Order: sequence, then structure tokens, then C-alpha cells
Amino acid sequence: MKIKTPIYVTQPSLPPLEEFEDYLKQIWDNKILTNNGPFHRELEQKLCEYLGVPYISLFANGTLALLTALQALDISGEVITTPFSFVATSHAILWNKLKVVFADIEEETYTLDPTKIEAAITPDTSAILPVHVYGYPCRVKEIHDIASRHGLKVIYDAAHTFGTKLNGKSLCSFGDLSILSFHATKVFNTFEGGAIICHDAAMKEHIDHLKNFGFTSELTVEEMGINAKMSEIQAAFGLLQLKYIEEALEKRREIHDLYIKGLSDISGITLPPEPIGLTQNYSYFPIFINKVKDGKTRDEVYEELKRNNIYGRRYFYPLISKFPTYHGLESAQPGRMPVAEKITEEVICLPIYPDLDSKMVNTIIRVIIKIFDYYN
Ligand SMILES: *Cc1c(COP(=O)(O)O)cnc(C)c1O
Repeated sequence: MKIKTPIYVTQPSLPPLEEFEDYLKQIWDNKILTNNGPFHRELEQKLCEYLGVPYISLFANGTLALLTALQALDISGEVITTPFSFVATSHAILWNKLKVVFADIEEETYTLDPTKIEAAITPDTSAILPVHVYGYPCRVKEIHDIASRHGLKVIYDAAHTFGTKLNGKSLCSFGDLSILSFHATKVFNTFEGGAIICHDAAMKEHIDHLKNFGFTSELTVEEMGINAKMSEIQAAFGLLQLKYIEEALEKRREIHDLYIKGLSDISGITLPPEPIGLTQNYSYFPIFINKVKDGKTRDEVYEELKRNNIYGRRYFYPLISKFPTYHGLESAQPGRMPVAEKITEEVICLPIYPDLDSKMVNTIIRVIIKIFDYYN
């Protein structure tokens, strides 16, 4: 039962190297390395088709996509967001010199609680930046209604949603804008990479200008843009990754099902929900440790897993609001977000990635059962 080499929470999936060489040869021949080259244009088109979205603009990474999304909508004042996310979500607000206002999440989906959003609105609020955590959908309808009533913009951090659908509709197609990340640890990766999804051609053009320093023509710069362009090498890699995405998602689903079956009888563990109408991408397998007897905590389970060479991750712990960068904020004070404060103390994300074989998954399940038998 001893696992010899460490198993980490994720491992990037890579296509066959020989196939990538063909793409590289083309780049070497045409000498177009960046600036909306042929692979970049092709990947934008293929992703629109695959994701079922009208317009996409590719980025060097997801964080630059977030920064630019806030800029593209000319957001000012305060932005309401969740503390239960990766720190890039709220850093993007700070980079735009805006005020971060944290609101609590709900226990069923780990995403922003619409009633808490509404309670956090002030005359200075101009946008909501919710996160579809682990690819679970935010309350998109309620959030849309709140935004309409108060005249707010909605930017979804959809970094975890690649390939997920809500009632058949791409989960990255909601809000005024949605952003994706193609970082190495995500379901679909281009080494580093990201994207903004939008709903009209004029907005796409605006975003394309902003990610290229603000150039609107050869000689004119109309806004303070940035350099956030995806390179041809990343785009070519993305095209190749897209060929294998269905296979990768299927393998993730198999691992997910093994975990669900193997762990369902353990009292003390809450398994991830299966929201109705959601087609998942199985990007994460979060479990929540909540009833361990004898005062054993999530962290002790986490350490015990590590002693067995299983390196889960506590996504997301600590809450963003606990980082010193955010300490000064009123909304970050202890006790203000009881649900997020509880969930962050319970979660462990277990290893899940296409190349994790089912024997290993079964071993991980046995280790967890042993930990809990021992603790109960
Ligand atoms: C990964 C991630 C990002 C940042 O994406 P990068 O491509 O790494 O810059 C933003 N938000 C969330 C929720 C993420 O998980």
C-alpha cells in the first residue's frame, strides 16, 4: 500500500512531442512568433466553436486577462468579490486601483452568496467579480438580476470552467465578460495562457487593442494598454491540446467516479456536490473534513496523507482576505464571512489528472479509509 513516488494534486497533460514538432516547423518557416499570427487566429476560432461562445481574445495568462477585463469595462470605485479563490482574482482589482469588497460564499456551491452580494453594495460599487470555484456554477441568474437592478457589471473569473456547461450552455459565457486561465495546472493548458470571452465584436476589438499596448492603428495609441498577448508557440500548443481534450476530460471523469464510489461511506467526509444541470470538467476533487472525532482536524488528515506520499492541496486556504495585503479592509475582518471561514478549514483537493491510473486512485482511497478508521 505504500506509495513510492509522491502523487501531487495535479500533473499537466501533454500531447505527443512529435506532433508538436510539426507546429514548430511551421513557425520556423513563417517566422511569425506573436501579434495575432495564424495559430493565434486559428485557436481563437476553434475555442469559440469548442466552448460555444461568440468571441474570445487570447492572453499570455489568466491574470492579465482579469486585469484587462476590469479595464475594458472601465470599472471604478468598489468591486465585490469572493475571498474563497486564488489570489489573482482580487489582485486584479488592486492592480486597477479599485477597492476590494469581500462578501461571503454559500455552502452548497462555494461561490458568492447573492444575498451577501446585495448587502455589500454601496453607491461606489460598480462591478461584481464572482468565481465559479472548482467549475461549480455561481448563482448566475440571481447575480444577473442584482447587477441589472443596481446597474453593475459582472465579470466572471471562469478559470476553472473550461468545458463545463450549465443546462447545455457554456459556463464561461455568462456575465458581461468571463475570463479563463490556461495555466499548466488547469484542465486545458498552453503552458501559461488565458482568455477573455465577450459578447460583441466591438468589445473584442477593444480588448484586442488593450492587450497590445492600446494601439488602435500603426500610429495611434488611444488607451494605456499592456502587453498581454499570447505567443504563436502557446497558441500552436493549444491547438494540439484541443485535439486531446475530450479524452482528458473522460479520464478525469473516471477518476472522479472512483473517488465518489470509494469514499462515500466515510463519516466525517463530505464529498463534492453534483449540481443538477451541470456538465462538469472534473478539474478538482475537493473533499471536506468536518466530523473527525477526537479533535482531529483537516490539517492532521492533510499531514497524514503527505506522510503517505499523497500531496493534496488545501484550495483555497488561507482565504485571500487573510493575506497581509488585504488586512486593512473592513470586509476582511475576522467573523465577517463565516461560511468561507468554515469551508477553508475543511477542504482538501485530492489528486486528479488524466495520467493518474485507477490503481493509484484505489490506493489513495485505501489510505484515506485507513486514516478515518484509525481516527473514528
Ligand atoms: C489559475 C487561476 C487564475 C490565474 O490564472 P493564471 O493563468 O495563472 O494567471 C485566476 N483565478 C483563478 C480562480 C485561478 O484558479
